[in-house]
Amino acid sequence: MENIVYIDEIDIKDKTLLIRADFNVPLDQNGNITDDTRIRAVLPTINYCLDENTKIVLMSHMGRPKGKKVPALSLLVVAKRLSRLLDKEVKFVNDCIGELPENIVKYANYGDIILLENLRFYPEETTNNEEFGKKLASLCDIYVNDAFATAHRSHASNVAVTRFVKTCAAGFLIRKELNYFTRAIDNPMRPFVAIVGGAKVSGKIEVLSNLADRVDKLIIGGAMSNTFLKALGHDVGSSLVEDDMIEYAKKTLEKINEKRIKLYLPVDAVVADKFAPDAETKVTTIQEVPKGWLVLDIGPATVTLFTEALQNAKTIVWNGPMGVFEFDAFSRGTSALVSSVANAYALTIVGGGDTDVAIHRAGEFAKMSYVSTGGGAFLELLEGKTLPGIEALVDCSKKNNLKK
Ligand code: AMP
Repeated sequence: MENIVYIDEIDIKDKTLLIRADFNVPLDQNGNITDDTRIRAVLPTINYCLDENTKIVLMSHMGRPKGKKVPALSLLVVAKRLSRLLDKEVKFVNDCIGELPENIVKYANYGDIILLENLRFYPEETTNNEEFGKKLASLCDIYVNDAFATAHRSHASNVAVTRFVKTCAAGFLIRKELNYFTRAIDNPMRPFVAIVGGAKVSGKIEVLSNLADRVDKLIIGGAMSNTFLKALGHDVGSSLVEDDMIEYAKKTLEKINEKRIKLYLPVDAVVADKFAPDAETKVTTIQEVPKGWLVLDIGPATVTLFTEALQNAKTIVWNGPMGVFEFDAFSRGTSALVSSVANAYALTIVGGGDTDVAIHRAGEFAKMSYVSTGGGAFLELLEGKTLPGIEALVDCSKKNNLKK
């Protein structure tokens, strides 16, 4: 991404900046924020703008209001938290386009911070509507995108808007995400190990095929390993298997073999008589999964095997849990692997919604080199795709000759 222009490479002093952030934070039943990591992740960009005396207009989405005003998904709660984190007033505007935000932005002072209401209260946001993008753009001199987690979407606030501003740049969060990712994928210190887990092979076909061109070792766990084990002739009882993916799994195994990549699959499992938190459970080898039982976690021997495979790794990329970690009875494999990755002497990059949750739960967040803030966006990078939100920034800079 050498063509991308970053916020500290342009002159923003005394300008009005429109910043697309991702403040889509989880809320409890009473509307309280339960995790403000995403808000904190944008603070470096906001603080830099404050230092440069800019007028800061922030915008984001929250949840899926489907184009309607849903009071429970108002960003007011984010304005309050942001204000507390910055120890500074954040003016909340009850709308994101039209006269109200236009006037508030016009009469605000440099150094003020304004947060607009949820972009997705308008259906035009998710349809990447040009008019809507133009209205957003009319609020600023410079557009900044720092919402990595939505960069894989073509929405008005990260694509259409860029067609109506002269200067576009990426913020520090996007720089951090892309830098870590590039270090890991394009230019890894070797041995490079990828760990892929989660439920479905079908959802991660492109990830696996892209990784198979780059890694030295591939560790596959979670339900997706069942499909690979079945492709190798194992009987995994009534476990979740994608039968229509068996042929694909066989081809992937051939490719891995040809490329001499070391593949690690589970050798034992925590099996259960039903898919439930209170199921009867036992540990068996993969060869001895009882008929009618389900593989719901990797077993202790597999944890040892995977941990051993990570010993000499210099770069580790991980996406997807090793089992049904939402149930305590099947969370041990994932949390044990969290510890192994956290303690490895390697650049460790973790991404994808579920993996992120597992790391927080195991209390090992600080020991990872980088935990991506983007689930879908991280996966699309792993697939080798270019993200529309990033492409739009590059196009804008090229068009307006801002290219470095
Ligand atoms: P993904 O979105 O593909 O990363 O999948 C994450 C989901 O995979 C989590 O909700 C896990 O509960 C689920 N999962 C992981 N391992 C298993 C398994 N052995 N059987 C069923 N579901 C699993």
